[in-house]
Order: sequence, then C-alpha cells, then structure tokens
Amino acid sequence: MRNVIIIGSGPAGYTAALYAARANLAPLMIEGEPRGTVLPGGQLMLTSDVENYPGFEHGVQGPELMRTMRAQAERFGAEIVPGWVEEVDFTRAGGPHRARFEDRWEEARAVIIATGASPRLIDHPAVRPPDEGGLMSRGISTCATCDGAFFKGADIAVLGGGDSAMEEGSFLTRYGKSVTIVHRREEFRASKIMLDRARKNPKIRWELGKTVADIEDVKKGRVTGVVLEDVKDRSRKRLPVGALFIAIGHDPNTALFRGKLDLDPAGYILHREHTMTNVRGVFASGDCVDHRYRQAVTAAGMGCQAAIDAEKYLESLGH
Ligand code: NAP
Repeated sequence: MRNVIIIGSGPAGYTAALYAARANLAPLMIEGEPRGTVLPGGQLMLTSDVENYPGFEHGVQGPELMRTMRAQAERFGAEIVPGWVEEVDFTRAGGPHRARFEDRWEEARAVIIATGASPRLIDHPAVRPPDEGGLMSRGISTCATCDGAFFKGADIAVLGGGDSAMEEGSFLTRYGKSVTIVHRREEFRASKIMLDRARKNPKIRWELGKTVADIEDVKKGRVTGVVLEDVKDRSRKRLPVGALFIAIGHDPNTALFRGKLDLDPAGYILHREHTMTNVRGVFASGDCVDHRYRQAVTAAGMGCQAAIDAEKYLESLGH
C-alpha cells in the first residue's frame, strides 16, 4: 500500500507532490489526461505569460511553469503517471483509500485531491487553444488577473452577469479604454454591491439581453470584434473589441467525489480540519476547494498545506 496518492495536477497537485516526495512519502500522482478543458497541468496550460507568480521577475509561460513544477516533484522521487481516475473508494474510515484508473486500483493511506476547476466556456470554434485554430490566450481569456495587462488601451468585452463578470469587468477598466459587459438577461445574478460598483464605473458599458453569436477573427489570429445577438428579436450587431473575457462561472472538477465527500452546493470540496475533508486521510487542495482566490500561487500554497497535513496524519498513524 502506498502512503499518498495525489489525484490531479496543476500548481496544487505538483506542489503537494514535491512536499510529499521530499518528506519521503513516495507519492503517486495520477495527473489526468486531456478531456475537454481539463488538461494535465491544469488551467495554466491554457495561459501564456504568467506575470504574477512570485519568483519570476520577467514572468513565465504557464505551460513552462507547470513543466518545471512537475520536473521538480519528479526530481525528489514523485511518481507521476498519466491517467484519469474513474472511481474512488473512501468508504473505509481511516483508509486504506482507493482510486481506480485504467482498470487498476491503487491503495494509499492518504489521498490528496487536486482536480481543479474548469471555466465554463461558450460553444464557438474561436474558444479553443491556438493549436486547434482558436483564439484562447490570443484575445480570449477566462482570467482578467492573468491576462488583463495585455490589453492596455483596448476596448474589451466581458461576458457574464454574475460576481465574476462584475469583478473581472471592474478590474479590466484599469487597462482597457472601455469595458462592455455583455449579459443575456436584464437582471443580474451578481450581488448588489458588486453590480453597483460596476455601474458606477464610467468606463463600463452594458449590452443586456445579448449573447455572443460570433467572435472575429480567427484568420487574423487575434480578436477584432464580437457579434452580439439580441435574445428577443435575434437582431445582430458588431462590437469592435480587442479582447473577450468569458466570466460565466467555473465548475469544480469534483463529479468523481459526489456522494463520497462533503461538497458545497456548487460542488466545491469542503474542508473539515485544515485541508482534511470529512473523510479521515482524504485531503483537498487548489481550485476544487477554492472559488474565491483561484490563483496559481494560492493553489500551490494549499497543495503545500495538504502535503504537510497528510504527512502529520501519517505520522499520527505511526508511519
Ligand atoms: P455565476 O454566479 O454562476 O454567474 C454566471 C453568469 O454567467 C450568470 O449571469 C449567467 O447568466 C451567465 N452565464 C452562464 N452560462 C452562460 C452562457 N452559456 N452564456 C452566457 N452567459 C452565461 O458565476 P460567477 O460569477 O463565477 O460566481 C460564482 C460564485 O463565486 C458565486 O457564488 C459568486 O458570488 C462567487 N464570486 C464572488 C466574488 C466576490 O465576492 N469577490 C467574485 C467572483 C465570484 P444567468 O444569470 O442568465 O444564468
């Protein structure tokens, strides 16, 4: 039986693997495989320059940051295998806990979950990575904190009517000449305080009762505008913008744990004690827990915490 299995990869998972490996726990990481917007390495695999990860004065490419985090964990003995966990068995109090992937069950005294979250996207050919002919990270983004600074002086569109859209829209006014919030209804899901703050911002414009019907221009390799469609009369108009931020929510990648761990109503894993879940020996870290900060550095920090918590837990069992 293993000491630790880590499910999922990304800043939280790789950091947990690094700490667990350096603590001589010989962790096994099952790092996922490409499925839809879920990629081994997580959301940073879809990001270009990362300028706010401490330690990189001139920034670092998201995929490069994940490659080096992975290599660092491997250097200390973490075993990292591709694969998609299809089923978990957390039914034995205090373990061993089990994870099934590729028709084999792996057993461990402790499990660290780091399956992340996926931004909700709209169905359009431009909303794909550049190597699939899309404009993701070339003007289409799901993260204003990551990519806003690349659109200084641009007209920007933000899609969504929740707190994320208000927050991203307000944040983007630091860079953009204008920010147009496009929302499919006249009413908002956003909280009053966030909505009021956005409404008071003179740089924010509103296109309500509209959806994004088209995104231009994949041929040019950058965003030059979006075509908005009125939900009532289906009329269309073009909005010239240099970037589209999609802020229609995230979904935690936690379907695997439904009915097996305590989740909040939105599906995020709940911590019971530090990073431990309601099942003893099962820990969770990163965006599958956190819908507030959602940063690479906070996910890495929580991965570190989960590994230390797992180590202390194993010590308490006498291992
Ligand atoms: P959300 O509350 O679920 O809002 C998603 C928005 O996107 C809704 O307005 C929804 O429209 C719209 N939408 C969903 N699918 C769409 C589609 N296919 N096309 C066009 N529009 C679509 O998600 P969120 O804004 O990410 O917030 C998630 C949670 O995090 C909330 O609890 C929120 O309060 C919290 N949060 C808090 C803060 C903060 O306090 N600083 C910041 C961000 C998020 P409809 O309204 O028509 O359904």
